[in-house]
Amino acid sequence: MVSGRIPQVTQVVRQTTRDLRRHNRAALLSSLYLRGPVSRLELVAESGLSAATVTNVVSELIADGVVAEAGSVESDGGRPRTLLAVRPEFGHVVGVDVSETHVEVGLFDCALGTLGTVRHPLVGTRLDPDEVAGLVRTGIAEVLEGGEPDAVFGVGIGVPGAVRDGGIVHAPTLGWRGVAFADLIHPHIAAPLHLDNRARTLGQVESWRGAGRGAERAIVALLGVGVGAAVATAGPSHPGITTSEWGHTVVKAGGAACRCGSHGCLEAYVGTEAVVRHYADRVGREPVIGDESDAELARIVEEAREPGPAADVLAETGEYLGIGIANLINLLSPDRVVLSGSAGAIMGPAILPAVRDAVRRHALGYLAERTEVVLGRLGPEAVALGAATLPIAQLLASGGRTG
Ligand SMILES: [Zn+2]
Repeated sequence: MVSGRIPQVTQVVRQTTRDLRRHNRAALLSSLYLRGPVSRLELVAESGLSAATVTNVVSELIADGVVAEAGSVESDGGRPRTLLAVRPEFGHVVGVDVSETHVEVGLFDCALGTLGTVRHPLVGTRLDPDEVAGLVRTGIAEVLEGGEPDAVFGVGIGVPGAVRDGGIVHAPTLGWRGVAFADLIHPHIAAPLHLDNRARTLGQVESWRGAGRGAERAIVALLGVGVGAAVATAGPSHPGITTSEWGHTVVKAGGAACRCGSHGCLEAYVGTEAVVRHYADRVGREPVIGDESDAELARIVEEAREPGPAADVLAETGEYLGIGIANLINLLSPDRVVLSGSAGAIMGPAILPAVRDAVRRHALGYLAERTEVVLGRLGPEAVALGAATLPIAQLLASGGRTG
C-alpha cells in the first residue's frame, strides 16, 4: 500500500500557479529572444496571454536584468511603441566546435555577439578523447583570460556524431564509441555543460539568427570535412531540429571511396577533404588535408576563377551537392535550404549557381519551385556559435534563470 501525506489543496494551487508563471516567463522570453526586438503589443498578440500578464512578466524580466527596453517604433495613430530585447550583457556563453580537424572555442554575449575565438588544430584521424578534451579546456581558459569567468552561465559543445545520455558521444568519424566526453570536461569547468550534435546546433543557430530564420521548414547543410544536415521546423516557440546522416547517402553508384567504408557517398564528393583530394588527383600532387584543408579549399576557389582543374572540380562538387539537395527536397519538401559550415562559407558563393542548376534538373519541379537554396550568413565560426545556442536554449526554457 502506498503511504504518504495527501497534499493540501492550497499547496497544489500554489504549485500550479508557480508552474504557470514559469511557463509564461519562458514563453515570453523565447519570443523576445527569437523574434526581438518586439513591443509588448506584439508579445500579447503572439502569446495569446492577457496584456496585464505580459506587462507583469516583462516588468519582472526587466527587474531581473534579462530584458531591457531597446528603442521605439511609430504605431498607427497612437503613441510610439517601446521595443524590448534580451540584454546582451546579461551574461556570457562559451560555444565549442569539435570538428574532425580542429577545436574552435568562442566566447559570446547573450545576444550571440562574438567576444573572442581561439582555434587549435587536431592532428590524425583517430583522435584521443583525452587529448581533444584537453584542447577544449585550454581553449575555454584562453577565451576567458582577462575576462569575467563568473559572467559565463553555460558552455555548449557541438561534436560530430550522436550524443546520448547527457554526454556520451558516438562519433564513428573520430573513432569514438560511447566516449563519456562530458565527464572529461566537467570537473574542470564551473559553468553547466551542454553537449549535442554539431549539425543540430548549427541548424539551431541558422534558424534563430541566420539564413534559416523565418522558414517553415529549413534544411541547414553542414558542409565541412564531414557533411550533415539538420531539418529545422517552425514551432510555436522554438524550431524543432532533427538531424540525419545526409553526408552518407549515395549520390553515385560505385563512386569514390568514403571514410565510412561505403562508396559514392555525398561526403566523398563535397566534404572539404574530398574536394581537396579530387583536385590533387587531377593535378597529380599530394592532397593538403587536416587543419590546412580549409586554406587549400580557399585557394582552389580562387584558382577556379579561371578555367582549369580547380574550376572542373568545383563544377563537379556543385553538381553532386545539387543532387544531394534534390534528394532532400524530394524527401522532405523544405521551403529553404541553407549552405552553411566552414566549407559552405568558403566555396558556397562560387558553387551556388551550379548547385541551383543541378537542383532544378534533379528535384521534382513542383517541389523545387517552392524551395530556395541560399548561403548561410554566419561565417566560418557558425558551428561554434551554434554550440553556444545550447546554454541559451536552457536560459530561455528556464525563463531567464541561470541558477
Ligand atoms: Zn560515407
